[in-house]
Amino acid sequence: MVWEIPEFVEKNTVMDKRKTEYVKFREGDPILFQFIDAEPTWFVVHTIRTSDVPFLKVKHLEHDCPICSHEEYRDAYRISARFRLNILDITPEKICPGCDYKYNSLKGAPSVCSNCGHNLGNIRTKPRAEVKVLENGTRLHGMMNEVLSTLMHSGQDFDPMNCAYMISVKGRGTDMVKTFMARPDVPVLEGVFEPFDLELPEFSNEEVYQMLNGVPMRDIFQRRRDSATNPTPKAGKTSTAGTGMDFSSLPGLG
Ligand SMILES: [Zn+2]
Ligand SMILES: [Zn+2]
Repeated sequence: MVWEIPEFVEKNTVMDKRKTEYVKFREGDPILFQFIDAEPTWFVVHTIRTSDVPFLKVKHLEHDCPICSHEEYRDAYRISARFRLNILDITPEKICPGCDYKYNSLKGAPSVCSNCGHNLGNIRTKPRAEVKVLENGTRLHGMMNEVLSTLMHSGQDFDPMNCAYMISVKGRGTDMVKTFMARPDVPVLEGVFEPFDLELPEFSNEEVYQMLNGVPMRDIFQRRRDSATNPTPKAGKTSTAGTGMDFSSLPGLG
């Protein structure tokens, strides 16, 4: 006799840590969403490069900032403001029943899947309904602020939490331009949606210097674990193997 574990139980037991999903912007790939957080959480950060993380956001400190107190680091890793908020991605999409490929319906889905040739003509379009973290710089944040305050002062009854929005994307890389607009014509989804933790990981000045000098972030976390289980680690002890830690679940890697 075999007792089967229902798939959803297995999934939820294995998935002990919830991986943060970020909104990923691609040219010509608009996103529709509604707010989960009423206000963004913001940080002033330095985005540094470690030997294992290409864009690691480290908080700028007003006093004794490990980066600003060194001219070469301050010039190499200038400060920028980052605004984060939880949103619900409600972009309409068609999922191919043949290969699970997801077509963004805002771009127009083909009538036949270009991957597997399955007919998509009678597949219904559904909103994604995925919680994600939207991370903005000052430009997009400012644009959102302007659009929202104009609507709130329009004299009409406008509830920003009960409205859909769209961000469209033109260009790539440093030429990428995002445009934010309200879409009151799109219905919002009802329900309770669990937000992600928006905090950035904290690093001591010593840890920041170690990372700037080539120590991988995974070793920093390994050292913390070592000193937590063994308060006086032997000198010269280094970790080499992977830790099995899922770095992509840490905020700051978006
Ligand atoms: Zn700083
Ligand atoms: Zn397909």
